[in-house]
Amino acid sequence: MYGKFQKYLQDTLAEIEEAGLYKRERNIVSAQGAEITLQDGSKALNFCANNYLGLADSPRLIEAAKKAMDERGYGMSSVRFICGTQDRHRELEKAIAKYFHTDDAILYAACFDANGGVFEPLLTAEDAIISDSLNHASIIDGVRLCKAQRFRYANADMADLEAKLQEAQSCRFRIIATDGVFSMDGNVAPMDKICDLAEKYDALVMVDESHSAGVVGKTGHGVAEQFNCYGRIDIFTGTLGKAFGGAVGGFTTGRQEIIDLLRQRSRPYLFSNSLPPMIVGAGLEMFKMLEESNELHDRQQENVVYFREKMMAAGFDIKPTQSAICAVMLYDAPLSQKFAAAMAKEGIFVTGFYYPVVPKGQARIRVQLSAAHRKEHLDKAIAAFIKVGKELGVIK
Ligand SMILES: *Cc1c(COP(=O)(O)O)cnc(C)c1O
Repeated sequence: MYGKFQKYLQDTLAEIEEAGLYKRERNIVSAQGAEITLQDGSKALNFCANNYLGLADSPRLIEAAKKAMDERGYGMSSVRFICGTQDRHRELEKAIAKYFHTDDAILYAACFDANGGVFEPLLTAEDAIISDSLNHASIIDGVRLCKAQRFRYANADMADLEAKLQEAQSCRFRIIATDGVFSMDGNVAPMDKICDLAEKYDALVMVDESHSAGVVGKTGHGVAEQFNCYGRIDIFTGTLGKAFGGAVGGFTTGRQEIIDLLRQRSRPYLFSNSLPPMIVGAGLEMFKMLEESNELHDRQQENVVYFREKMMAAGFDIKPTQSAICAVMLYDAPLSQKFAAAMAKEGIFVTGFYYPVVPKGQARIRVQLSAAHRKEHLDKAIAAFIKVGKELGVIK
């Protein structure tokens, strides 16, 4: 049997290769950080990690993780409700709720699971989910797993959202689902307007803070802080794998009864292992760090402003956003790949994106800025952008 199936797989892989979409992984032999070492011994500056607060190699978090392992062991060997809950799991859930100004939180192995398990327990075929068209794959999958009716609105388009809310008025309950920051343009969802429409049309609001928590808002607390929407958003999901340390882990936080019902019914929570003590211990330390000082967020924001201003002065076309994602527009797919490859030769890691990851004719280089970047890192990246940009005729 495998012969025929193997042929099919080989053909599919060849198609991916021919379309220029084959993903190849680069082996890093150092810790994740602003500066990384590759397997051939060369060094590179990393501008494509989601390491927004620079915590991925934080000595303080590494120490906290080790201490937690010494005190509470390596693994839990259980799901939460059988025998996989330590006191610290609850402490971390409380810390998350405190950070987002919500009632309670529930931990998952990843935000992919949080999103996969958030809709199905809460809504039925009588209800409607109204989802932004650029939402993350895990929200799309979560919506698919739920029997509720589906509506899609154009990215951050409030007129379209309003039209879809009107269409969904006959449903029992409605929920609007959106990313906080969209990862391709780095644009922030207009949460104040979304909440206004939710109130007008009697809908709940769910936001995925994966790229926005630790980044947007005056002190980096996410979209509720940025748009002063505390108390107006019913459900937040997020990850511990980006700004919040970069290891692994996800959560849903929000109103008490919502979290309580997820704990009873959410399948990725009920049927998947508890987070290990080291992740929980480091997570607790991470929230303590963010409470003590806003220094990391301040530095990240300074870096964003510095990078963006220098790049625009050099003549690059940058999408205006308020996040730590900076899209350098090239509008040409092969050029985006050539550009990223030339940057790698200069020792700068950035990602070239083109259709179907972004709309046709919207190819770009995505740069992700971090608190870990020092001024000399930024200057080196900007100099490389200018050199490659001139070589490839992008700037004069
Ligand atoms: C990265 C990301 C996720 C997945 O988070 P994991 O914890 O890595 O599973 C979910 N939603 C959004 C919007 C993301 O950017």
